[in-house]
Amino acid sequence: MDIPKLVFKGSKPGPRLLVLGAIHGNETAGPAAIRRLAAELEARKIVLTAGELTMVPVCNQKAYRQNTRYVDENLNRVFRKHSDPTSYEQRCANRLTDFFAGADYVLDLHSQHVDGQSYCFAQNNSRKLLDFVRALGPECIIFDWAKLYPEGDFTTESYAESLGAVGTTVECGNHTNPKTVDVAYDTILRALVHLGMIPSESVSKPNLEALNLYMTKKYDFQAGGRLAKAWQHLDYLPAGAVVATLEDGTEIKAAEDSYMILPKLTDNRPGEEWFYLAV
Ligand SMILES: [Zn+2]
Repeated sequence: MDIPKLVFKGSKPGPRLLVLGAIHGNETAGPAAIRRLAAELEARKIVLTAGELTMVPVCNQKAYRQNTRYVDENLNRVFRKHSDPTSYEQRCANRLTDFFAGADYVLDLHSQHVDGQSYCFAQNNSRKLLDFVRALGPECIIFDWAKLYPEGDFTTESYAESLGAVGTTVECGNHTNPKTVDVAYDTILRALVHLGMIPSESVSKPNLEALNLYMTKKYDFQAGGRLAKAWQHLDYLPAGAVVATLEDGTEIKAAEDSYMILPKLTDNRPGEEWFYLAV
């Protein structure tokens, strides 16, 4: 499988950063931001002073061409080596995981189908990861995602972590908002500044007042289930608030003061993620 990557080397040794775009094919801000930066590096408008930057503009080539999230299954739920791949995304994962060899940091750029702030995921509390994530300037940092997947969390972040690299996923904003590309672009620059790979004046200083959220629950969709309203990501849910109702009338309530995380309002399929809660 041919997945193009772009490699830029600084004049001095330094960290190796891997940047991923379009792990989900309909999330085009990452590819656009990567191409913008690649053009500037080629024109030497921005000069990499140290380290090595590898960027993969489009990780899921077929889904990107079709403008769909995935072809057979969610690439960011099967991100590991598969000895006997049974789907297009498992074959993608086999190729993409090769690119992780030698990477010190991995930045995976995403966008979402609803409006909302930019946020990063942090899978552990290591100083190195927290410093990296804060330097990217997200409005919110979401912890403990992997705890909701006890059967195994097969995301790019967890794969990076399994190799001893520092990895995060950044949700840069709504798929269709042109500003999302700017957020993705600034995010890559801030990563490069933090790692000492480009001069610090290349990008504005990050917002350091990120809200920290800890994931508490994951709810999978069941046929006939209804959300109590068209929730927005990060809506506040006081303890006792009815969040959704199942087909048999059972109400799902917030057990404690919580925030709604990534509600999926349409195209729900039984057994797939519906929404999450965090505190
Ligand atoms: Zn995504």
